[in-house]
Amino acid sequence: MRTVVLTGPGSIAVESRPEPRIIEPTDAILRVTASCICGSDLWPYRGIEPVTQPRGMGHEYVGIVEEVGSQVQTVRPGEFVVGSFFASDNTCPTCRAGYQSSCVQRQAAAPDGAQAERVRITLADGTLVATPGMPAPDLIPSLLAASDVLGTGWFAAVAAEAGPGKTVAVVGDGAVGLLGVLAARELGADRIIAMSRHTDRQALARDFGATDIVEARGDAGVEAIKDLTDGLGAHSVIEAVGTQEAMQQALRSTRPGGHLGFVGVAHDVNLSGEELFFSHVHVHGGPAPVRRFLPDLIDRIWTRQIDPGRVFDLELPLERAAEGYAAMDERRAIKVLLRAE
Ligand SMILES: [Zn+2]
Repeated sequence: MRTVVLTGPGSIAVESRPEPRIIEPTDAILRVTASCICGSDLWPYRGIEPVTQPRGMGHEYVGIVEEVGSQVQTVRPGEFVVGSFFASDNTCPTCRAGYQSSCVQRQAAAPDGAQAERVRITLADGTLVATPGMPAPDLIPSLLAASDVLGTGWFAAVAAEAGPGKTVAVVGDGAVGLLGVLAARELGADRIIAMSRHTDRQALARDFGATDIVEARGDAGVEAIKDLTDGLGAHSVIEAVGTQEAMQQALRSTRPGGHLGFVGVAHDVNLSGEELFFSHVHVHGGPAPVRRFLPDLIDRIWTRQIDPGRVFDLELPLERAAEGYAAMDERRAIKVLLRAE
């Protein structure tokens, strides 16, 4: 079967690999309908995370169950399923508290990479959620978005306590930031400020519910947020980048007593303890427990209340994955969907 492999910085190949097999009795094998390229895939692609050996890529997937291990009970061959990047048992105390991405059995859900024709998923019972039936083709991008970027944006909005009466600011106009805007709207926020310099992304942010756009960044961005919030800062701030500048901007844009939800994978972020101490900001984030939100998100997509699949602005067959990586790296595409069949 064909699978996307990172062979070195900036180098993506599509190679033939052996078909995945059930290894653990808790595994499932999916025939992948679609997968996608994540902003976090760009860190190793750019060589910021070292690549020591060829590596199967991808951790976002939807597909049809082909085979399950002997202990799998909740999903059956033939079902269409959505899963997330970390596998979880969904039964341990951490999972039951809603933090499946810190499950005591946490492991990669697709250890060999999901940008492939078939994928082995670990801890299938706790990780995969079946849809009510076979999805209409136009629902597939949105269901795929639920597997990571929607679930992550949603978690950020929940961590930032977005809701009625709140002004929400969103730092980052990638897919997660844009879907953080959508999540804030769905959670009932009064006002949503999207921070973006790209007109196409600004337009999508407005469609997803942004009421204001701020183009300034850094200290000027913080000032712009304060100007829009009586000098106080936003009640709720979503950080969806993971850099020092973005995190600092997010923290400083949050009013005292407010909440910062951060979901950009942190790279070389160092916050001052003193600044945190005096900020009076609730800071909560990390790898999103997407599994917590999946049943609700699938329902909202299935009933067409939300259309998060609009973040995909480039769709390619799996064989052309290298073009997709280049487009995302050069920010020509917000998010790239890879059709596996
Ligand atoms: Zn668990």
